[in-house]
Amino acid sequence: MRLVSYGVTGAERPGVLVDERTIAPLAPLLSQLGLPTADMNAVLGVLPYLAERIKDRGYGTATRIDVAATRLGPPVPRPTTVVAVGANYAQHIAELSDVARPAKPVLFVKPVSSLSGPGDDIVLPRETRMLDYECELGVVIGRGGRRIPRSEAMEHIGGFMIANDVTARDVFLGESDRHPLFMQVLRGKGYDTFCPTGPWLVTPDEFTDPAGARLRLWVNDELRQDAVAGDMIFDVSALIASVSECLTLRPGDIILTGSPPGVGFALRPPRFLADGDTLRLEISGLGTMTTRVRDEEP
Ligand code: MG
Repeated sequence: MRLVSYGVTGAERPGVLVDERTIAPLAPLLSQLGLPTADMNAVLGVLPYLAERIKDRGYGTATRIDVAATRLGPPVPRPTTVVAVGANYAQHIAELSDVARPAKPVLFVKPVSSLSGPGDDIVLPRETRMLDYECELGVVIGRGGRRIPRSEAMEHIGGFMIANDVTARDVFLGESDRHPLFMQVLRGKGYDTFCPTGPWLVTPDEFTDPAGARLRLWVNDELRQDAVAGDMIFDVSALIASVSECLTLRPGDIILTGSPPGVGFALRPPRFLADGDTLRLEISGLGTMTTRVRDEEP
């Protein structure tokens, strides 16, 4: 199944894709089952149960919505947390530094407020001159848990989607040249619109080989990132085990699994995003997400 959240920002409703142009709203089915009708986290928490009913009833409803007539929001608009993993591809570490791999996944949090939909613009804040992209495989939790064993981790996944871990490199570095404590991770990674996700959430039964997925990102039709997810240092199951060692994962929570090489900051000379640029992110099996960059309104 491909799940979507559609509608205006802040009031998205869950649906399931019938085909690439048509959404079947999930609200009627959810209300029959006594579940909240506008909560994708609740959908993900009972996904195996819902999946049966969706298939049985021909997607549960006669109502159909044209994708072109609505806005696609972030597939999971209101998770309790978005955890991101840094330094998870050896070649990306190599392009930025001469250190070896970390012993444990390096984790940070992106604010839920940074989430935006697949077609929403990335707003370039006035504080940065170094806006950059990171095409990442996004993993969404279905069944929650704490200290999830690696051997059971895949059973906790609700779906996969494309994510862009947008980063303002200069803001991120802050005054770290003076002291490592002065790095500004939240500012550099956390502006509104710095986490486009989408275009939809693909359930694990339709995305059976995450390690085989090819990730690509283009800036204005120029290919910048091209990698396979199998090159991750810590794979998806290792990341779920490691994140849940520290915090309770809940249905809808998102893990961004790290950027492959090819970020603008590492190019010689570095190249950054500007007003009017178009980013195209593609992960095989998950679709394509095309977003525009625009300056913040004065
Ligand atoms: Mg990243």
